[in-house]
Amino acid sequence: MAYDVHIIGGGMAGSEAAWQLAKRGIKVRLSEMRGGGDTTPAHQGTGLAELVCSNSFRSDDHENNAVGLLHQEMRELDSLIMGAAEVAKVPAGSALAVDRDVFSAEVEKRLSALPNLEIVRERIDRLPASGLTIVATGPLTAAALADSIGQATGADSLAFFDAIAPIVHHDTIDMDIAWKAARWDKGGKDYINCPLNKDQYVAFREGLLAGEKTEFREWESNTPYFEGCMPIEVMAERGEDTLRFGPMKPVGLDNPHWATPEHPNGRWPYAVVQLRQDNKLGTLWNMVGFQTKLKYAEQVRLFRTIPGLENAEFARLGGLHRNTFLNSPVLLDRQLRLKSAPHVRFAGQITGCEGYVESAAVGLMGGLMTAAEVAGRGWTSPPRTTALGALLSHITGDAEAESYQPMNVNFGLFPPVDAEVRKKQRKLAYTQRAKHDLQGWLASA
Ligand SMILES: Cc1cc2nc3c(=O)[nH]c(=O)nc-3n(C[C@H](O)[C@H](O)[C@H](O)COP(=O)(O)OP(=O)(O)OC[C@H]3O[C@@H](n4cnc5c(N)ncnc54)[C@H](O)[C@@H]3O)c2cc1C
Repeated sequence: MAYDVHIIGGGMAGSEAAWQLAKRGIKVRLSEMRGGGDTTPAHQGTGLAELVCSNSFRSDDHENNAVGLLHQEMRELDSLIMGAAEVAKVPAGSALAVDRDVFSAEVEKRLSALPNLEIVRERIDRLPASGLTIVATGPLTAAALADSIGQATGADSLAFFDAIAPIVHHDTIDMDIAWKAARWDKGGKDYINCPLNKDQYVAFREGLLAGEKTEFREWESNTPYFEGCMPIEVMAERGEDTLRFGPMKPVGLDNPHWATPEHPNGRWPYAVVQLRQDNKLGTLWNMVGFQTKLKYAEQVRLFRTIPGLENAEFARLGGLHRNTFLNSPVLLDRQLRLKSAPHVRFAGQITGCEGYVESAAVGLMGGLMTAAEVAGRGWTSPPRTTALGALLSHITGDAEAESYQPMNVNFGLFPPVDAEVRKKQRKLAYTQRAKHDLQGWLASA
Protein backbone atom coordinates (compact mmCIF):
# COMPACT_ATOMS: atom_id res chain seq x y z
CA MET A 1 0.00 0.00 0.00
CA ALA A 2 1.34 3.46 -0.85
CA TYR A 3 1.46 5.53 2.30
CA ASP A 4 1.70 9.14 3.48
CA VAL A 5 3.47 8.48 6.76
CA HIS A 6 5.90 5.77 7.87
CA ILE A 7 5.87 4.97 11.60
CA ILE A 8 8.76 2.88 12.92
CA GLY A 9 7.98 1.03 16.16
CA GLY A 10 4.62 -0.33 17.28
CA GLY A 11 4.93 0.27 21.03
CA MET A 12 3.06 2.77 23.16
CA ALA A 13 3.97 5.85 21.10
CA GLY A 14 3.95 4.33 17.61
CA SER A 15 0.57 2.65 18.11
CA GLU A 16 -0.99 5.88 19.41
CA ALA A 17 0.49 7.95 16.56
CA ALA A 18 -0.74 5.41 13.98
CA TRP A 19 -4.25 5.62 15.45
CA GLN A 20 -4.36 9.41 15.42
CA LEU A 21 -3.24 9.49 11.78
CA ALA A 22 -5.12 6.57 10.23
CA LYS A 23 -8.47 7.44 11.79
CA ARG A 24 -8.15 10.82 10.07
CA GLY A 25 -7.93 9.08 6.70
CA ILE A 26 -4.16 9.35 6.34
CA LYS A 27 -2.40 6.30 4.89
CA VAL A 28 0.13 4.86 7.32
CA ARG A 29 2.71 2.08 7.27
CA LEU A 30 3.53 0.89 10.79
CA SER A 31 6.76 -1.14 10.93
CA GLU A 32 7.21 -3.27 14.04
CA MET A 33 10.16 -5.65 14.22
CA ARG A 34 8.64 -8.01 16.80
CA GLY A 35 6.69 -10.70 14.98
CA GLY A 36 9.17 -10.49 12.11
CA GLY A 37 11.96 -12.45 13.73
CA ASP A 38 13.40 -9.75 16.00
CA THR A 39 12.76 -8.67 19.56
CA THR A 40 14.19 -6.46 22.32
CA PRO A 41 15.78 -7.69 25.57
CA ALA A 42 12.67 -6.68 27.56
CA HIS A 43 9.69 -7.60 25.36
CA GLN A 44 8.22 -11.08 25.72
CA GLY A 45 5.78 -11.35 22.83
CA THR A 46 4.82 -9.94 19.46
CA GLY A 47 1.79 -7.83 20.40
CA LEU A 48 1.64 -4.12 19.71
CA ALA A 49 1.93 -1.82 22.75
CA GLU A 50 3.33 -4.53 24.99
CA LEU A 51 3.89 -3.35 28.57
CA VAL A 52 7.42 -4.47 29.35
CA CYS A 53 7.23 -4.31 33.12
CA SER A 54 4.50 -3.01 35.45
CA ASN A 55 0.87 -3.25 34.33
CA SER A 56 0.07 0.17 35.80
CA PHE A 57 -0.45 3.52 34.14
CA ARG A 58 -0.06 5.04 37.64
CA SER A 59 -2.53 7.42 39.27
CA ASP A 60 -5.84 8.08 37.53
CA ASP A 61 -6.61 11.03 39.83
CA HIS A 62 -7.02 13.91 37.40
CA GLU A 63 -7.55 16.47 40.15
CA ASN A 64 -4.45 15.95 42.24
CA ASN A 65 -1.94 14.12 40.11
CA ALA A 66 -0.10 15.17 36.96
CA VAL A 67 -0.18 11.75 35.30
CA GLY A 68 -3.89 11.40 36.12
CA LEU A 69 -4.40 14.76 34.43
CA LEU A 70 -2.45 13.52 31.42
CA HIS A 71 -4.77 10.50 31.21
CA GLN A 72 -7.74 12.83 31.15
CA GLU A 73 -6.29 15.10 28.47
CA MET A 74 -5.49 12.08 26.30
CA ARG A 75 -9.07 10.84 26.69
CA GLU A 76 -10.26 14.23 25.44
CA LEU A 77 -8.21 13.57 22.31
CA ASP A 78 -9.65 10.08 21.76
CA SER A 79 -6.44 8.31 22.74
CA LEU A 80 -6.10 4.71 21.59
CA ILE A 81 -4.00 3.83 24.63
CA MET A 82 -6.54 5.27 27.07
CA GLY A 83 -9.43 3.64 25.17
CA ALA A 84 -7.77 0.22 25.25
CA ALA A 85 -6.86 0.70 28.94
CA GLU A 86 -10.54 1.25 29.74
CA VAL A 87 -11.39 -2.13 28.17
CA ALA A 88 -8.49 -3.93 29.87
CA LYS A 89 -8.85 -2.25 33.28
CA VAL A 90 -8.29 -4.30 36.47
CA PRO A 91 -8.99 -3.14 40.06
CA ALA A 92 -6.12 -1.00 41.39
CA GLY A 93 -7.57 1.62 43.74
CA SER A 94 -6.98 5.11 42.42
CA ALA A 95 -4.42 3.85 39.90
CA LEU A 96 -5.20 2.78 36.35
CA ALA A 97 -3.92 -0.76 35.85
CA VAL A 98 -4.64 -3.20 33.04
CA ASP A 99 -4.53 -6.84 32.07
CA ARG A 100 -1.51 -6.54 29.78
CA ASP A 101 -2.61 -9.22 27.30
CA VAL A 102 -6.13 -7.85 26.98
CA PHE A 103 -4.66 -4.36 26.61
CA SER A 104 -2.23 -5.25 23.84
CA ALA A 105 -4.89 -7.31 22.01
CA GLU A 106 -7.33 -4.39 22.18
CA VAL A 107 -4.74 -1.98 20.75
CA GLU A 108 -4.03 -4.42 17.93
CA LYS A 109 -7.74 -5.02 17.28
CA ARG A 110 -8.52 -1.31 17.02
CA LEU A 111 -5.54 -0.61 14.76
CA SER A 112 -6.20 -3.62 12.52
CA ALA A 113 -9.73 -2.33 11.89
CA LEU A 114 -8.44 0.88 10.30
CA PRO A 115 -8.43 0.55 6.50
CA ASN A 116 -5.71 3.17 6.02
CA LEU A 117 -3.22 1.41 8.21
CA GLU A 118 -0.84 -1.36 7.15
CA ILE A 119 1.00 -3.12 9.97
CA VAL A 120 4.21 -4.69 8.71
CA ARG A 121 6.38 -6.94 10.85
CA GLU A 122 9.81 -5.73 9.75
CA ARG A 123 12.91 -4.23 11.26
CA ILE A 124 14.03 -0.89 9.87
CA ASP A 125 17.78 -0.32 9.90
CA ARG A 126 18.14 3.18 8.53
CA LEU A 127 16.38 6.49 8.94
CA PRO A 128 14.40 6.98 5.70
CA ALA A 129 16.05 9.61 3.47
CA SER A 130 12.69 11.14 2.58
CA GLY A 131 8.97 10.90 3.30
CA LEU A 132 7.17 11.84 6.52
CA THR A 133 8.44 9.50 9.21
CA ILE A 134 7.80 9.04 12.92
CA VAL A 135 10.50 7.14 14.80
CA ALA A 136 8.99 5.57 17.94
CA THR A 137 11.40 2.74 18.59
CA GLY A 138 11.65 3.31 22.31
CA PRO A 139 14.33 2.86 24.96
CA LEU A 140 15.52 -0.39 23.35
CA THR A 141 15.81 0.75 19.75
CA ALA A 142 17.50 -1.94 17.64
CA ALA A 143 21.23 -1.41 17.14
CA ALA A 144 21.43 -0.68 13.40
CA LEU A 145 18.73 1.98 13.52
CA ALA A 146 20.33 3.48 16.64
CA ASP A 147 23.59 3.75 14.66
CA SER A 148 21.78 5.47 11.83
CA ILE A 149 20.14 7.90 14.28
CA GLY A 150 23.54 8.50 15.89
CA GLN A 151 25.00 9.34 12.49
CA ALA A 152 22.19 11.80 11.78
CA THR A 153 22.34 13.49 15.17
CA GLY A 154 25.97 13.20 16.22
CA ALA A 155 27.18 10.48 18.56
CA ASP A 156 27.10 12.70 21.67
CA SER A 157 23.43 13.47 21.19
CA LEU A 158 22.14 9.92 21.49
CA ALA A 159 22.49 8.27 24.90
CA PHE A 160 22.33 4.51 25.47
CA PHE A 161 22.03 4.68 29.26
CA ASP A 162 20.30 7.12 31.49
CA ALA A 163 22.14 8.32 34.59
CA ILE A 164 19.42 10.02 36.51
CA ALA A 165 20.14 12.27 39.45
CA PRO A 166 17.16 13.08 41.69
CA ILE A 167 15.25 16.28 40.96
CA VAL A 168 13.77 18.40 43.73
CA HIS A 169 10.86 20.86 43.61
CA HIS A 170 12.44 24.25 44.29
CA ASP A 171 9.80 25.40 46.75
CA THR A 172 10.55 22.45 49.04
CA ILE A 173 14.20 23.40 49.61
CA ASP A 174 14.84 25.17 52.93
CA MET A 175 16.76 28.31 51.94
CA ASP A 176 17.27 29.23 55.60
CA ILE A 177 19.79 26.38 55.58
CA ALA A 178 20.83 26.14 51.92
CA TRP A 179 22.18 29.11 49.97
CA LYS A 180 22.77 30.14 46.39
CA ALA A 181 26.33 30.58 45.19
CA ALA A 182 28.85 29.38 42.66
CA ARG A 183 32.25 28.08 43.70
CA TRP A 184 34.69 30.94 44.38
CA ASP A 185 31.79 33.27 43.54
CA LYS A 186 32.44 32.66 39.86
CA GLY A 187 29.66 32.72 37.24
CA GLY A 188 26.76 34.06 39.31
CA LYS A 189 24.77 32.34 42.03
CA ASP A 190 23.95 29.37 39.83
CA TYR A 191 23.86 26.58 42.42
CA ILE A 192 21.86 25.87 45.54
CA ASN A 193 24.26 24.51 48.15
CA CYS A 194 23.28 22.30 51.07
CA PRO A 195 25.96 22.29 53.80
CA LEU A 196 27.07 19.22 55.79
CA ASN A 197 29.33 19.18 58.83
CA LYS A 198 31.69 16.26 59.43
CA ASP A 199 29.27 14.14 61.46
CA GLN A 200 26.51 14.65 58.93
CA TYR A 201 28.85 13.75 56.07
CA VAL A 202 30.12 10.57 57.75
CA ALA A 203 26.56 9.47 58.57
CA PHE A 204 25.42 10.25 55.05
CA ARG A 205 28.24 8.20 53.49
CA GLU A 206 27.43 5.29 55.79
CA GLY A 207 23.82 5.55 54.72
CA LEU A 208 24.88 5.32 51.08
CA LEU A 209 27.00 2.24 51.73
CA ALA A 210 24.32 0.47 53.76
CA GLY A 211 21.36 1.48 51.59
CA GLU A 212 19.48 -1.15 49.63
CA LYS A 213 20.24 -0.97 45.90
CA THR A 214 18.27 -2.12 42.87
CA GLU A 215 19.94 -4.82 40.80
CA PHE A 216 20.70 -4.47 37.12
CA ARG A 217 18.63 -6.72 34.90
CA GLU A 218 20.64 -9.51 33.31
CA TRP A 219 20.89 -7.72 29.96
CA GLU A 220 21.87 -4.47 31.62
CA SER A 221 24.64 -5.95 33.72
CA ASN A 222 27.37 -4.69 31.39
CA THR A 223 26.23 -1.12 32.01
CA PRO A 224 29.36 0.93 31.67
CA TYR A 225 30.05 3.28 34.56
CA PHE A 226 31.41 6.29 32.75
CA GLU A 227 33.43 8.34 35.19
CA GLY A 228 31.03 11.21 34.67
CA CYS A 229 27.92 9.24 35.64
CA MET A 230 29.10 6.80 38.29
CA PRO A 231 26.48 6.04 40.96
CA ILE A 232 27.07 8.04 44.10
CA GLU A 233 27.18 4.90 46.25
CA VAL A 234 29.92 3.40 44.06
CA MET A 235 31.92 6.57 44.56
CA ALA A 236 31.30 6.34 48.32
CA GLU A 237 32.75 2.82 48.33
CA ARG A 238 36.05 4.07 46.93
CA GLY A 239 37.05 5.79 50.14
CA GLU A 240 35.94 8.03 52.95
CA ASP A 241 36.86 11.26 51.18
CA THR A 242 36.13 10.36 47.56
CA LEU A 243 32.80 12.19 47.61
CA ARG A 244 34.37 15.24 49.28
CA PHE A 245 36.81 15.42 46.40
CA GLY A 246 34.04 14.74 43.89
CA PRO A 247 30.43 15.89 43.75
CA MET A 248 30.36 16.93 47.43
CA LYS A 249 33.46 19.13 47.21
CA PRO A 250 33.04 22.15 49.53
CA VAL A 251 35.99 24.30 48.43
CA GLY A 252 35.28 27.89 47.46
CA LEU A 253 31.79 27.83 48.96
CA ASP A 254 31.44 30.19 51.92
CA ASN A 255 28.20 29.45 53.73
CA PRO A 256 26.72 32.84 54.68
CA HIS A 257 24.48 31.16 57.27
CA TRP A 258 27.67 30.37 59.19
CA ALA A 259 28.99 33.95 59.15
CA THR A 260 30.79 35.17 62.30
CA PRO A 261 32.56 38.46 63.07
CA GLU A 262 35.88 36.79 62.15
CA HIS A 263 34.39 35.26 59.03
CA PRO A 264 31.77 37.70 57.76
CA ASN A 265 31.29 35.76 54.50
CA GLY A 266 30.80 32.51 56.36
CA ARG A 267 32.92 29.31 56.26
CA TRP A 268 33.26 26.38 53.90
CA PRO A 269 31.23 23.40 55.09
CA TYR A 270 32.85 19.98 55.48
CA ALA A 271 30.94 18.81 52.39
CA VAL A 272 28.12 20.15 50.21
CA VAL A 273 25.36 18.82 48.04
CA GLN A 274 24.88 21.10 45.06
CA LEU A 275 21.66 21.50 43.09
CA ARG A 276 21.52 22.99 39.60
CA GLN A 277 18.51 24.45 37.83
CA ASP A 278 16.94 21.82 35.58
CA ASN A 279 14.24 23.69 33.65
CA LYS A 280 13.81 27.20 32.33
CA LEU A 281 10.96 27.87 34.77
CA GLY A 282 13.36 27.36 37.69
CA THR A 283 10.86 25.08 39.45
CA LEU A 284 13.05 21.96 39.28
CA TRP A 285 16.61 21.53 40.55
CA ASN A 286 18.77 18.44 40.09
CA MET A 287 21.22 17.09 42.67
CA VAL A 288 24.48 17.36 40.80
CA GLY A 289 26.36 14.07 40.47
CA PHE A 290 23.80 12.14 42.51
CA GLN A 291 22.85 9.43 39.99
CA THR A 292 22.16 6.31 42.02
CA LYS A 293 20.82 2.76 42.06
CA LEU A 294 19.52 3.07 45.63
CA LYS A 295 15.90 1.94 46.00
CA TYR A 296 13.42 4.79 45.78
CA ALA A 297 12.24 4.68 49.42
CA GLU A 298 15.87 4.59 50.53
CA GLN A 299 16.69 7.64 48.38
CA VAL A 300 13.87 9.68 49.89
CA ARG A 301 14.84 8.69 53.44
CA LEU A 302 18.56 9.31 52.98
CA PHE A 303 18.40 12.48 50.88
CA ARG A 304 16.05 14.07 53.43
CA THR A 305 18.87 13.79 55.98
CA ILE A 306 20.78 16.40 53.93
CA PRO A 307 20.51 19.80 55.64
CA GLY A 308 18.10 21.97 53.65
CA LEU A 309 16.37 18.96 52.06
CA GLU A 310 14.53 17.76 55.19
CA ASN A 311 11.17 18.42 53.53
CA ALA A 312 12.24 17.93 49.92
CA GLU A 313 9.66 16.69 47.46
CA PHE A 314 11.19 14.84 44.55
CA ALA A 315 9.93 15.33 40.99
CA ARG A 316 12.11 12.38 39.98
CA LEU A 317 14.30 9.96 41.86
CA GLY A 318 17.67 8.72 40.70
CA GLY A 319 18.36 5.72 38.51
CA LEU A 320 20.61 4.12 35.95
CA HIS A 321 19.16 1.97 33.15
CA ARG A 322 19.72 0.97 29.61
CA ASN A 323 17.78 3.59 27.69
CA THR A 324 18.25 4.99 24.21
CA PHE A 325 17.23 8.63 24.06
CA LEU A 326 18.03 11.82 22.19
CA ASN A 327 19.17 15.15 23.52
CA SER A 328 15.79 16.42 22.30
CA PRO A 329 15.98 20.01 23.61
CA VAL A 330 18.90 20.53 21.21
CA LEU A 331 17.99 18.26 18.32
CA LEU A 332 14.23 18.59 17.91
CA ASP A 333 12.11 21.59 17.01
CA ARG A 334 8.92 22.42 18.92
CA GLN A 335 7.05 19.92 16.73
CA LEU A 336 9.33 16.98 17.53
CA ARG A 337 11.03 17.20 14.11
CA LEU A 338 14.73 16.58 13.74
CA LYS A 339 16.07 20.05 12.97
CA SER A 340 18.63 18.60 10.53
CA ALA A 341 16.07 16.38 8.73
CA PRO A 342 12.57 17.76 9.33
CA HIS A 343 10.81 14.92 7.52
CA VAL A 344 11.72 12.78 10.56
CA ARG A 345 9.79 13.17 13.81
CA PHE A 346 10.55 11.34 17.03
CA ALA A 347 7.95 10.19 19.55
CA GLY A 348 7.83 8.18 22.75
CA GLN A 349 10.57 7.44 25.21
CA ILE A 350 13.33 8.00 22.65
CA THR A 351 12.55 11.73 22.98
CA GLY A 352 13.48 11.60 26.67
CA CYS A 353 10.07 11.41 28.22
CA GLU A 354 9.70 8.57 30.71
CA GLY A 355 6.86 6.12 31.24
CA TYR A 356 4.13 4.31 29.33
CA VAL A 357 1.66 7.18 29.55
CA GLU A 358 4.13 9.94 28.71
CA SER A 359 5.42 7.90 25.74
CA ALA A 360 1.89 7.43 24.43
CA ALA A 361 1.13 11.13 25.00
CA VAL A 362 4.13 12.20 22.94
CA GLY A 363 3.06 9.67 20.27
CA LEU A 364 -0.40 11.22 20.31
CA MET A 365 0.99 14.72 19.79
CA GLY A 366 3.40 13.46 17.11
CA GLY A 367 0.41 11.95 15.31
CA LEU A 368 -1.60 15.18 15.49
CA MET A 369 1.35 17.28 14.31
CA THR A 370 1.95 14.95 11.37
CA ALA A 371 -1.76 14.91 10.48
CA ALA A 372 -1.72 18.70 10.34
CA GLU A 373 1.39 18.63 8.17
CA VAL A 374 -0.17 16.16 5.71
CA ALA A 375 -3.25 18.38 5.50
CA GLY A 376 -1.08 21.46 4.93
CA ARG A 377 -2.36 23.07 8.13
CA GLY A 378 -0.40 24.72 10.89
CA TRP A 379 -0.40 23.15 14.36
CA THR A 380 -0.51 24.98 17.63
CA SER A 381 0.89 23.20 20.67
CA PRO A 382 -1.36 22.68 23.70
CA PRO A 383 -0.76 25.44 26.28
CA ARG A 384 2.15 24.67 28.56
CA THR A 385 -0.27 24.97 31.49
CA THR A 386 -1.72 21.61 30.37
CA ALA A 387 -0.04 18.28 31.04
CA LEU A 388 0.42 17.67 27.31
CA GLY A 389 1.84 21.14 26.75
CA ALA A 390 4.12 21.02 29.80
CA LEU A 391 5.61 17.69 28.73
CA LEU A 392 6.07 18.81 25.12
CA SER A 393 7.67 22.12 26.13
CA HIS A 394 10.08 20.34 28.44
CA ILE A 395 11.24 17.90 25.78
CA THR A 396 11.49 20.36 22.93
CA GLY A 397 13.55 23.10 24.49
CA ASP A 398 12.66 24.04 28.05
CA ALA A 399 14.75 21.38 29.77
CA GLU A 400 18.40 22.12 30.35
CA ALA A 401 20.15 20.36 27.46
CA GLU A 402 23.37 19.81 29.38
CA SER A 403 21.78 17.69 32.09
CA TYR A 404 18.95 16.27 29.97
CA GLN A 405 17.70 12.93 31.32
CA PRO A 406 14.38 11.10 30.97
CA MET A 407 11.47 12.74 32.78
CA ASN A 408 7.98 11.77 33.95
CA VAL A 409 5.18 14.32 33.82
CA ASN A 410 4.98 16.28 37.10
CA PHE A 411 3.71 19.65 38.30
CA GLY A 412 7.24 21.04 38.35
CA LEU A 413 7.06 21.16 34.53
CA PHE A 414 4.07 23.52 34.69
CA PRO A 415 4.35 27.29 35.08
CA PRO A 416 3.86 27.91 38.81
CA VAL A 417 0.34 28.79 39.96
CA ASP A 418 -0.41 31.90 42.00
CA ALA A 419 1.58 31.68 45.24
CA GLU A 420 -1.40 32.21 47.53
CA VAL A 421 -3.54 29.48 45.96
CA ARG A 422 -0.54 27.24 45.95
CA LYS A 423 -0.27 27.01 49.68
CA LYS A 424 -3.85 25.87 50.10
CA GLN A 425 -4.66 23.62 47.20
CA ARG A 426 -1.68 23.59 44.97
CA LYS A 427 -2.43 20.47 42.96
CA LEU A 428 -6.05 21.31 42.37
CA ALA A 429 -5.05 24.76 41.17
CA TYR A 430 -2.75 23.19 38.58
CA THR A 431 -5.33 20.74 37.32
CA GLN A 432 -8.21 23.23 37.21
CA ARG A 433 -6.13 25.69 35.21
CA ALA A 434 -5.02 22.88 32.88
CA LYS A 435 -8.59 21.74 32.23
CA HIS A 436 -9.72 25.27 31.48
CA ASP A 437 -6.80 25.91 29.13
CA LEU A 438 -7.16 22.57 27.35
CA GLN A 439 -10.80 23.34 26.54
CA GLY A 440 -9.74 26.70 25.12
CA TRP A 441 -7.12 24.98 22.98
CA LEU A 442 -9.55 22.32 21.76
CA ALA A 443 -12.10 24.99 20.85
CA SER A 444 -9.54 26.92 18.82
CA ALA A 445 -7.95 23.90 17.12
C1 LIG B 1 12.90 -2.80 31.07
C2 LIG B 1 11.99 -1.60 31.10
C3 LIG B 1 10.98 -1.54 32.04
C4 LIG B 1 10.10 -0.44 32.04
N1 LIG B 1 9.11 -0.41 32.95
C5 LIG B 1 8.21 0.59 32.93
C6 LIG B 1 7.12 0.58 33.83
O1 LIG B 1 6.97 -0.32 34.64
N2 LIG B 1 6.25 1.61 33.79
C7 LIG B 1 6.38 2.63 32.90
O2 LIG B 1 5.53 3.52 32.90
N3 LIG B 1 7.42 2.66 32.03
C8 LIG B 1 8.34 1.67 32.02
N4 LIG B 1 9.40 1.68 31.16
C9 LIG B 1 9.67 2.87 30.35
C10 LIG B 1 8.83 3.14 29.09
O3 LIG B 1 7.71 3.82 29.45
C11 LIG B 1 8.44 1.99 28.25
O4 LIG B 1 9.62 1.44 27.75
C12 LIG B 1 7.48 2.36 27.10
O5 LIG B 1 7.06 1.17 26.54
C13 LIG B 1 8.09 3.27 26.05
O6 LIG B 1 7.19 3.44 24.97
P1 LIG B 1 7.74 3.62 23.47
O7 LIG B 1 6.58 3.57 22.56
O8 LIG B 1 8.60 4.80 23.41
O9 LIG B 1 8.67 2.35 23.25
P2 LIG B 1 8.23 0.80 23.22
O10 LIG B 1 6.94 0.59 23.88
O11 LIG B 1 9.42 0.04 23.69
O12 LIG B 1 8.01 0.53 21.68
C14 LIG B 1 9.06 0.57 20.77
C15 LIG B 1 8.79 -0.49 19.72
O13 LIG B 1 9.72 -0.31 18.65
C16 LIG B 1 10.15 -1.60 18.22
N5 LIG B 1 11.44 -1.42 17.55
C17 LIG B 1 12.62 -1.09 18.11
N6 LIG B 1 13.57 -0.94 17.13
C18 LIG B 1 12.95 -1.18 15.93
C19 LIG B 1 13.38 -1.16 14.57
N7 LIG B 1 14.65 -0.88 14.23
N8 LIG B 1 12.48 -1.43 13.60
C20 LIG B 1 11.18 -1.73 13.92
N9 LIG B 1 10.72 -1.78 15.19
C21 LIG B 1 11.60 -1.48 16.19
C22 LIG B 1 10.18 -2.43 19.49
O14 LIG B 1 10.04 -3.80 19.20
C23 LIG B 1 8.98 -1.90 20.26
O15 LIG B 1 7.80 -2.61 20.01
C24 LIG B 1 10.29 0.61 31.11
C25 LIG B 1 11.32 0.53 30.18
C26 LIG B 1 12.17 -0.55 30.16
C27 LIG B 1 13.25 -0.62 29.13
